[in-house]
Amino acid sequence: LEEDSLLRKKYNIHVSGSNVPTPLQSFAELNSRYRCELYLLNNFTELGFQEPTPIQRQAIPVLLSGRECFACAPTGSGKTLAFVCPMIMKLKHRLSTGIRAVILCPTRELAAQTTRECKRMAYGSKLCVLLMTKDLIRNADLSKRHCDVLVSTPLRLELAIRKKRIDLTRVEYLVLDECDKLFELGLLKQIDYVVKACSNPSIIRSLFSATLPDYVEDLARRSMHDAVRVIIGRKNT
Ligand code: ADP
Ligand code: MG
Repeated sequence: LEEDSLLRKKYNIHVSGSNVPTPLQSFAELNSRYRCELYLLNNFTELGFQEPTPIQRQAIPVLLSGRECFACAPTGSGKTLAFVCPMIMKLKHRLSTGIRAVILCPTRELAAQTTRECKRMAYGSKLCVLLMTKDLIRNADLSKRHCDVLVSTPLRLELAIRKKRIDLTRVEYLVLDECDKLFELGLLKQIDYVVKACSNPSIIRSLFSATLPDYVEDLARRSMHDAVRVIIGRKNT
């Protein structure tokens, strides 16, 4: 535990919550500690990622241990991998059909970008990653389609739920990405609607943000269970 706090100090990681898991020293620990499949480490190598960023060091073990998480780290610090990596490691065990994980992004551009990154990281696995598009809502009955990870804006997902095009009752992981932007854009009602539709009681929620204003922190404390808070550097810079 002394060792944990030295590591956190070194990488400017601040945590609160009970029994916070040890930060990662390297990506190799994903295999030695958590038995990840080798395709994942290969993908990181191919992408030129040599070592985890601070947010990845702490958020990945938190999510892999099945804890909910709300995290704040600066723009460009690798938050996408911090939630995608544990998600695809956990989804390996195919326990159910339907949509198994949802990532909400503030804009269509960010959703498209996150989908691309997600696919790059899942390359070599059999996981299916889908971007919610207008066509997808119009043409496909998503409840009959297998999809491991669905990436969407809150507006499009809300629309799909209202049109009964989609069933989110089996979702095991829900991520609110760029949470401060989701709020700035006034998407709280849509987020609430999606969160309610993801009714699986054992769902793991996480929230990632570049800043952690009080309203984001309030939402996290209100809606999450036994969550770990991870802050890299200072809270609102
Ligand atoms: P954020 O969401 O925190 O703004 P991103 O997840 O978009 O940041 O990542 C920013 C950039 O850093 C991306 O180009 C991503 O591919 C790259 N990146 C992510 N993790 C690593 C890593 N461990 N090493 C090097 N580059 C990384
Ligand atoms: Mg991001």
